Amino acid sequence: RGGHHEGLTLAVQVIPFGEDQEMVLARDITQLERLDMMRRDFVANVSHELKTPLTVVSGFVETLIDGDEDFSVEDRRHFLELTLSQSQRMQRLVDDLLTLSSLQSGDAPRGEEVVDVQALVQGVLNEARLLSRGRHEIVCEQGPAAAIVGSQKELYSAFSNLVSNAVRYTPEHGEIRVSWSVLEDGSGRFAVEDSGIGIEPQHLERLTERFYRVDQGRSRETGGTGLGLAIVKHVLTRHNAQLGIASQPGTGSCFTAHFPVRRLRLPG
Ligand code: ADP
Repeated sequence: RGGHHEGLTLAVQVIPFGEDQEMVLARDITQLERLDMMRRDFVANVSHELKTPLTVVSGFVETLIDGDEDFSVEDRRHFLELTLSQSQRMQRLVDDLLTLSSLQSGDAPRGEEVVDVQALVQGVLNEARLLSRGRHEIVCEQGPAAAIVGSQKELYSAFSNLVSNAVRYTPEHGEIRVSWSVLEDGSGRFAVEDSGIGIEPQHLERLTERFYRVDQGRSRETGGTGLGLAIVKHVLTRHNAQLGIASQPGTGSCFTAHFPVRRLRLPG
């Protein structure tokens, strides 16, 4: 027996004892139910995300098989290019899903490496320049030499998701500022600031949810999976770091990762 009461879900169990007495056990399963709902939503989302590119791929291949004689070399090439880009989209999605699942399972090697932050920043900066293809002004403010104790692979993926978002959500000629700094109290801060489209305040709270997007079209057009910030959030949590988001629609956004003193190693 169960019951709903003011948003609570209770699992109620009646256990008879003695002659004519019974004991009533009520457990609050609101949380369990919410988790189950989230799991169902997630499966539905993944299926939906895969369905669209799969439909496109099989559609194009079918067209090519059926009408092979009717198409010019250029037509055929065009279909194949579209097929390739949809396959790459599925590939990115599956890669991000695997990354997320290994971050969540908790058994991925946390890897207590000593990660050189300046090298990490240089790496993601190069990636940003490649992605931008000269369309943005990309500035770097490199702070003092420091190391973060953690996983190089995970940190790289978090930082690179933040810079790739900055590139993807900033129109041509915009500015992207990538910076690393050590604060007065000895904690560290990695920041990516852009002069892009920005985010309305009502969305900020939900951005790190899996598949939450402000604008579905823009995210997909630019190759987004909707999982980037969920990955960032998990990586930072595993490193005791805090994600900060400040944004103004039409002006730009600033994403920061704040690492506590105990995660940092400074030379000397
Ligand atoms: P996506 O693959 O859709 O970019 P993310 O999880 O990385 O997924 O980001 C979630 C959403 O947050 C994006 O769809 C976008 O609406 C918004 N967003 C993320 N970064 C930025 C940014 N730098 N500027 C504006 N909007 C952003």
